[in-house]
Amino acid sequence: MKTWNIAVIGAGAAGLCAARHIASRGNMKPVIFEKAHTVGGVWCYTDKTDKDEYGLKIHPAMYKNLRTNLPKEVMEFPDFPFRSEYPSFMTHELLSEYLSSYSKHFELDKYIKFGCLVRNVKPNTLEDTSSWEVTVEDLRKKSTYTTTFDAVFVCNGHYATPLHPNFVNQGYFKGNVIHSHSYRTPEQYSGKKVLIVGCKSSGQDISLDIAKHAESVIISHRTSLVTCPLPENVNQRPPIATFKEDGRTICFADGSEAEFDDIVNCTGYLYDFPFLDEDCDIKVDDGRICHLYKHIINPSHPSLMFIGVCGVICPFPQFHFQVLYSLAALDGSLKLPSKAAMMNDIENDYQERLRNGIPHRKSHVMGAAQWAYNDMLADAISEPRLHPRVEKLYNDVHDTRTANLCRYREHEARLLDTGMYELHRSPGD
Ligand code: FAD
Repeated sequence: MKTWNIAVIGAGAAGLCAARHIASRGNMKPVIFEKAHTVGGVWCYTDKTDKDEYGLKIHPAMYKNLRTNLPKEVMEFPDFPFRSEYPSFMTHELLSEYLSSYSKHFELDKYIKFGCLVRNVKPNTLEDTSSWEVTVEDLRKKSTYTTTFDAVFVCNGHYATPLHPNFVNQGYFKGNVIHSHSYRTPEQYSGKKVLIVGCKSSGQDISLDIAKHAESVIISHRTSLVTCPLPENVNQRPPIATFKEDGRTICFADGSEAEFDDIVNCTGYLYDFPFLDEDCDIKVDDGRICHLYKHIINPSHPSLMFIGVCGVICPFPQFHFQVLYSLAALDGSLKLPSKAAMMNDIENDYQERLRNGIPHRKSHVMGAAQWAYNDMLADAISEPRLHPRVEKLYNDVHDTRTANLCRYREHEARLLDTGMYELHRSPGD
């Protein structure tokens, strides 16, 4: 029987999940390359915001006061529950601890090469069944080497390369401007007038964190208004129209204007695969990775897998299904269609999304579609589906959050006799 040597890029949640399932197969062996010196990826908080000790861009976008916006009952891997004493909405420290215990429990540390940056991934031939040359820089030893693998799992995360906005006359602004990737603590905003650009999860959470210290916070965004009560010093405005020459005044699309000391751009991230050689035949086109069958598999080289590229999902459960699906495709228990049929499937999925009003730049955003997608992956490989209580709780949390953005994390999930979850206020609230 063939033994598969499989390279895994990154030891965040996706890479650990990939390695855990690769290692559980008798005929497969993972080697995880991780540029940092710990597992956990984005969940490893650091005060640093710019470069690490090797001069590389800091990876985690984690900030000090972050608590998860999903409860542990929906976040957990289906085969590795969070400890029961953890609260439903956890600190990043608990997440980091969880991922370290996952790695220890499944004995993954022995497969991880820490301090190893993947520089290049290249197929050995342009045929669809190919082996891979993976070139790695050992950051401590300052040496580079190349190893051949049978397959590659790309698990490098997609919250590390900020998408910076481009507003008319933004160069006039004389205050401090950062991207949420570099946001760490709110204290430096004491007494300041702060503009937050963007109102997705990060924009909302960072606004509330900063509002505890700032004189005022304005969230400028183009999405529908947050209608639940917000702190008195937090207000909303439409998108920025322009900046004024005085270096402080910003004009908004409704004709209003205000002065600011600081701006935090919560404007999202870009997919970035700087290590993929041109021969991999993968391109990022404005938020769309071209091309990935089922948002995972490269049709030109079906042994190049991407885990975790989708957005607005319960990440860990989805990683679980994507990894199992990928392994079934590799070992042949799942028969992949021809390249032409895979490309056709990708195009149909893309066109259907466009017809449903999902813009091109959100080609991998799932939202409500994630449950059917997870089920489709599970069914294709005869794995048990995710329990429906996960979807129910995810939706209940969404509603609770919409109704009370400031206090939804004070809830705890409770398991009912029916097997479903119910949200209730934490004792003492
Ligand atoms: P990452 O955690 O980013 O891991 C990627 C790893 O790859 C990193 O360790 C990195 O060092 C390594 N790497 C990258 N490039 C290379 C290379 N060339 N060579 C070697 N190593 C490399 N999810 C939730 O479920 N609930 C939440 O509440 C939640 N909150 C979040 C808050 C923030 C601020 C952010 C940024 C994300 C949040 N997420 C949340 C989503 C989170 O990204 C996922 O939960 C998940 O941890 C992503 O795992 P990953 O392995 O895909 O990526």
